[in-house]
Amino acid sequence: MKDTEMNLNPCHICRLTGGGHDVVDGINSYIVDNVGSVQMHEIIRQVHDVLKDEDLEMSHEDIQNHIMHHVKNQKVIMNTVLSDLLSMSHLTKKASVVECDETGTKMVDNKMMTIYLKIVDQIITVYRMDSMKEAKS
Ligand SMILES: [Zn+2]
Repeated sequence: MKDTEMNLNPCHICRLTGGGHDVVDGINSYIVDNVGSVQMHEIIRQVHDVLKDEDLEMSHEDIQNHIMHHVKNQKVIMNTVLSDLLSMSHLTKKASVVECDETGTKMVDNKMMTIYLKIVDQIITVYRMDSMKEAKS
């Protein structure tokens, strides 16, 4: 491979995918099989260690970047979307109840509450997808 091509795609996993590299093929299956059931930092740690044994070092950040931005598998993408939706749901839920500093009375912020409920709807939609059902079994 020429240097220019290396620079365009420094991700070892992407570079070697489809090239008959058994270890990289194993890493790709491992990511798809375990996303959603194994914690992300654990997946990253294991992929990192396997790559290191092959003299293909990648930083934890680059591996996370690969999983979140390079992998096109529906289950993997939906898990990233689900994580984003969950963190947004926590934020909007908190923001939808406002407490008056003086009286301590709690009130619902309608705008925020509407956004929160829309996010909950989207979370339910993601869970209904077939690729996500497989992840749970
Ligand atoms: Zn990649």
